[in-house]
Amino acid sequence: PTHPKAANESPSSKYLKDFLEGMQPDQIRQHLRKFTRLPHLAGTEQNLRYAEQIRKEWLEFGLDAVEMVPYDVLLSYPNKSQPNYISIVDRFGIEVFNTSLAEPVPEGYEDVADIVPPYSAFSAKGQPEGDLVYVNYGRTEDFFQLEEMNITVTGRIVIVRYGQIFRGNKVKNAMSAGAKGIIMFSDPADYSAAGVQPYPDGWNLPGGGAQRGNVLRLDGAGDPLTPGYPAKEYTYRLSLENAVGLPNIPVHPIGYHDAIHLLKNMGGQIPPNNWKGTLDVSYRIGPGFKDDFKSQKVRMNIHTNSQVTRIYNVIGRIRGAVEPDRYVILGGHRDAWVFGGIDPMSGAAVVHETVRGFGLLRSKGWRPRRTLIFASWDAEEFGLQGSTEWAEDNAKVLQERAVAYVNADSAIEGMYTLRVDCTPSLHTLVYNLTKQIASPEEGEEGISLYDSWHKRDNWTADRDAPRISKLGSGSDFEAYFIRLGIAAARARYTKDRKTEWYSSYPVYHSVYETFEVVDRFYDPTFKRLRAVAQVRGGLVFQLADSQLLPLDVNQYADSLGKYAQSIAREAQKHPEEMEMYGVSFDSLFSAVRNFSVAAGDFHERLQSLNRADPLQVRAVNDQLMYLERAFIDPLGLPGRPFYRHVIFAPSRHNKYVGQSFPGINDELFDIKNSADPKKAWDEVKRQISVAAFTVHAAAMTLTPPA
Ligand code: GLU
Ligand code: CA
Ligand code: ZN
Ligand code: ZN
Repeated sequence: PTHPKAANESPSSKYLKDFLEGMQPDQIRQHLRKFTRLPHLAGTEQNLRYAEQIRKEWLEFGLDAVEMVPYDVLLSYPNKSQPNYISIVDRFGIEVFNTSLAEPVPEGYEDVADIVPPYSAFSAKGQPEGDLVYVNYGRTEDFFQLEEMNITVTGRIVIVRYGQIFRGNKVKNAMSAGAKGIIMFSDPADYSAAGVQPYPDGWNLPGGGAQRGNVLRLDGAGDPLTPGYPAKEYTYRLSLENAVGLPNIPVHPIGYHDAIHLLKNMGGQIPPNNWKGTLDVSYRIGPGFKDDFKSQKVRMNIHTNSQVTRIYNVIGRIRGAVEPDRYVILGGHRDAWVFGGIDPMSGAAVVHETVRGFGLLRSKGWRPRRTLIFASWDAEEFGLQGSTEWAEDNAKVLQERAVAYVNADSAIEGMYTLRVDCTPSLHTLVYNLTKQIASPEEGEEGISLYDSWHKRDNWTADRDAPRISKLGSGSDFEAYFIRLGIAAARARYTKDRKTEWYSSYPVYHSVYETFEVVDRFYDPTFKRLRAVAQVRGGLVFQLADSQLLPLDVNQYADSLGKYAQSIAREAQKHPEEMEMYGVSFDSLFSAVRNFSVAAGDFHERLQSLNRADPLQVRAVNDQLMYLERAFIDPLGLPGRPFYRHVIFAPSRHNKYVGQSFPGINDELFDIKNSADPKKAWDEVKRQISVAAFTVHAAAMTLTPPA
């Protein structure tokens, strides 16, 4: 029997080296230039054109097959003849101030048609009028604090700053609190870095810029009209009233030039210090305006329409030579709010270069052991729709055959270091791979990406290694990881979390996300994007070509142990209740111990595996592949049927962030204010038992088959 370490000297690693070295910064630059010339919103003709161009070029690069896969899904656009805006009206109802109808177009793009103005996709229509209440970021804790101050938003219009959490959660919070509209603004505190100029002289958001974005609460449903099933021509569609996740109040985004006018005359209480942004206003909470302005109201004018629209995924393949029925997927979206300079085309350019790289290997006679699937998703910006519909369409095949999914949204959001979020079983592969990639940073020639990353973002609290985070959501891996239970990862270049506290990046989802913002500021040498291409491409290369799947079950055991500790600690904040209702985590800890033992033994057995016996190899690889699947509960989380992973779900308070043991955690949240503590603690007990069973059942899949 061959020792697994021999994998490093296999012929595959020679090709891996060629593949990593073959990816060229200037090629990535050219791909990005080519696909950011025109706006390409989902559902528009230009986005179909780019899809066709990608299909053609992927075939030229040497993929075996590339197809266009259409779906008809619910999208949402502003009404072209009735613009959206917000007014301040006087006591006669006369508009005394109106917000801008569009962002000032950046130089060089003056003649471009079809730039969609800033809007909140899937906003309800309407013209609510009322007093403003300022609620900081609109987070759960901000609304709690407002309640403590005895300020109600019922019948009022909420104004919040963008940042910290997914905007859909802000809208949901405002709705639940009884607001009749919500305005979101970009505060320079969150969208300008110190010492940086507004675009085009720097990469900060100008005062006239605003953040587009969907405001849905889909909880993994995909197309709002066809939850659970692919949105084909024959598919039954819900009525709009029954659609999943649509807000029922008007929503609109504005920039800080406009926000100043809405905020400057607000009256009411002085806000807590951490509610203050950096505009030259007092950030009073309201409700309404002060003194002479008391009789003025704010009126929203929103005419956005939803509409079933055809979208197109592009799906390319390289057939596996040995295990064609095992799939490794590299997918990222193509649709953009405007040009998509960073989001998503920095990612799409990286995928394009990865496909070119695999094509070069093909021309040298190489073929991967397993099948590689490449996806250019559509309508991600409208709620991850293209990727989710394809996952629904192919669920049966994917749950039997998919090994891993690597996501490829924006490849850069800062200029500092690497950021990776992935399932625990991929930690080891990420560390090993980044040791084989060069640092892209000036003055770090000869240093590995791993060392460069380790130096900048040591995961000290967990281990002496670079930080890796849990997967949350807000991009296309969601249906694959959280609904289907396929091992998943994402990687991008990021900012310094210690000093740069602004949210996402300043020009996010604005018209200023151009090719130039990357070329001039984020990555002039395109070496950072190459490093990201090497990480994303290297991951799928190794997952598709290693004889033994590079998934580490011991890492999963380790993470489960930490998550169990942390949720138990959370519950122990209520010792009396735990005592009174007989709540215990013993079953969960016992299941985690079973899992650790099973994982350790499994890992042991791998060392003595006869790697010359294809059936033995296939059997352990199936155990590795199906481990992630074992964490799926077919019944889903309470009230969230498409979030089925028992270990990970997007936080109920912020879709972007991952929550471990979400079933238990959600029940513990705010349990001290529960109306029926007995019932709540009973549900905690039920959730602990579901978690314990699931971890135990997953452990069983790792034990010897007979
Ligand atoms: N990535 C998009 C955003 O953050 C869509 C996220 C989602 O709908 O989950 O706006
Ligand atoms: Ca569907
Ligand atoms: Zn986006
Ligand atoms: Zn994106």
